[in-house]
Amino acid sequence: MATPKLTPDQIAQVSKLVAGYISAQREKYAPRAVPLSAQQRAPLEPFFAREVIDSVRVLVLEGERVPNPDFYPMLRGLGFNNLPDQSAMGAITFCDVVVSHERLTAGLLFHELVHVEQYRQLGIPRFSDLYLRGFLNGGSYEAIPLEVNAYSLEDRFRRDPRRTFSVQAEVGQWLAVGL
Ligand SMILES: [Zn+2]
Repeated sequence: MATPKLTPDQIAQVSKLVAGYISAQREKYAPRAVPLSAQQRAPLEPFFAREVIDSVRVLVLEGERVPNPDFYPMLRGLGFNNLPDQSAMGAITFCDVVVSHERLTAGLLFHELVHVEQYRQLGIPRFSDLYLRGFLNGGSYEAIPLEVNAYSLEDRFRRDPRRTFSVQAEVGQWLAVGL
């Protein structure tokens, strides 16, 4: 199943829509989101920059799901039939706000905080652009390099939470090598 080809203009437009969606969701959920608890912070602190640990806000939704972007029907009209279903994700990170549909375990939080670090280094517009291009090039959510990076660091943490490394350095190096 091939991913439809978009023109460079279309990619630029959709990239702006993605950034708008991320900013709007962040605004929407931020007022209800809270800082990490001491218990949540402890296993993550050796891996993440202080600023990430201090600035991130989390919200676990109950009886409510994150809505899919309202430009999804337009993309389906262009032939995309495997758009990542936001309402079916475990958790989603909108810049520095983590919104979850399930209980926040250390592993899940680790993954989402890698995204917070990615946003910190890239900013919302570039994050959105890379996320979209990753999806278009790879043809699926699983192939998006920003996700591959988050899953691989999350795996390292899950395999041995005592072997610490700097997520900030790992993400920086990975971005410098090129996507
Ligand atoms: Zn992710």
